[in-house]
Amino acid sequence: MKRRTVIGLEIHVQLTALKTKLFCSCSADYRHSPPNTHVCPVCLGLPGALPVVNKEALRAAISVCLALNGRVADRLRFDRKHYFYPDMPKNYQITQYLEPICREGYLEIEYNGRTKKIRIRRMNLEEDPGRLVYPAGSPLHSPYSLVDYNRAGVALLEIVTEPDMESPEEARLFLEKLRSILEHLGVSDPSLEGAMRVDANISVEGGERVEVKNIGSIHEVERALMYEIVRQNSLLDKGVKPKRETRHWDPAHRVTIPARVKETEEDYRYMPDPNLPPVRIPAELVKAVAESLPELPDKRAERFVREYGLPRKTARVLVSRKLLADFYEDVVKMYGGDPRRAANYIVNDLLNWLKDYGIKALYSRVPPERVVKVLKLLDEGVISIRQAKELAEVIVKKGVDPEEYVKKAGYVKISDEEYLSRIVEEVFKEHPKAVRDALEKPKAVNFLVGMVMAKTRGRADPVVARRLVLRRLEELRARGASQTSSR
Ligand SMILES: [Zn+2]
Repeated sequence: MKRRTVIGLEIHVQLTALKTKLFCSCSADYRHSPPNTHVCPVCLGLPGALPVVNKEALRAAISVCLALNGRVADRLRFDRKHYFYPDMPKNYQITQYLEPICREGYLEIEYNGRTKKIRIRRMNLEEDPGRLVYPAGSPLHSPYSLVDYNRAGVALLEIVTEPDMESPEEARLFLEKLRSILEHLGVSDPSLEGAMRVDANISVEGGERVEVKNIGSIHEVERALMYEIVRQNSLLDKGVKPKRETRHWDPAHRVTIPARVKETEEDYRYMPDPNLPPVRIPAELVKAVAESLPELPDKRAERFVREYGLPRKTARVLVSRKLLADFYEDVVKMYGGDPRRAANYIVNDLLNWLKDYGIKALYSRVPPERVVKVLKLLDEGVISIRQAKELAEVIVKKGVDPEEYVKKAGYVKISDEEYLSRIVEEVFKEHPKAVRDALEKPKAVNFLVGMVMAKTRGRADPVVARRLVLRRLEELRARGASQTSSR
């Protein structure tokens, strides 16, 4: 039985482009530093230390709000959220409770050929907690745990959607869209470890809401949701109602497991932070940020369709990552040929092989000049489409120069007519029915040409191959006519 599924997401995004943390001048670039080296009295919560709001964090939050079609709050106000856990040196987290910086946004995703609006309820600006480090890798196998406060106080956005998604695919599409927007805004690099963490709320009709906490990647969100749908449906099939609970996603075993019982809203004892009195967010600041917003993915995709004549689907794939869209435009500029051919090659051939290395490796593994060289070899008829496809693998995996590779591999098209005539002869013998079709319908000629290409493993010059097939057909027609007349 198919039951309705409802999904809402809470996404934590680190503002990784900021130089310093949200309330102090410690460096926010902590990932490759020894533990507890990016700390000061403010982010360690020592008595008497006073937080000061990072103005760049405010600008970044406003830009994300506007990009998510949201309404920026009139004032900036922070609250304390209390809980006791070793990753939180102050025993409270500075966050926004009553007055989030952003409300009522939305993003549009394209799913099954239609556009769907996913509403965003609110977005908070808050500080990241520290990090627990387990010497044996996981809490289960470690005799003790260590705390690293380098991350404590790093600026974080918490984006909360309405429960508008109905499938794991929609959740993935939403997160991919959000990721590309963050990349285009230049406020966060979501591909950094821990820079984008997701809590997913999911309920299946007839059951209660289940929250799956702290999922580390978009791909894992989709997997965790698929798992939960199966788990909750099978409970319901047995007549058991899934209970309201918090679970963790275990990516190694690909299951969700029940988590410790968390505080409820009342337990957090929210209160305004007395060290951070509310301040007005100047309308001029919001206006200035709005005016400096870069071209965002939707607009960029539209421009790709308009300017380069790309199909919408291809344009959307290209803008799904900022780096990919930049790469495409670099290739187009250098190439000067058909932008659609460039897009096809990147989307259909290169991306496939790049999967193993990740999108970040794009420029380093495949400098745009190399792609341009392949496209030009193709335009000049030196290599066939099939060979260009083969080259995609070679240039990504081996990092070779396509021109040199083509020379060495003897990638030259076969246009030797004598040789190709023999192949045509063979094809005609093997496919008598196709030959009869081709004598009557010009469209059926393509099949015979295709067979010649296949027999030469794509190396035949398609123009010559077609000419020879047509010539052979003409000969057959002439012979047929003379036989009839001689009777
Ligand atoms: Zn600090």
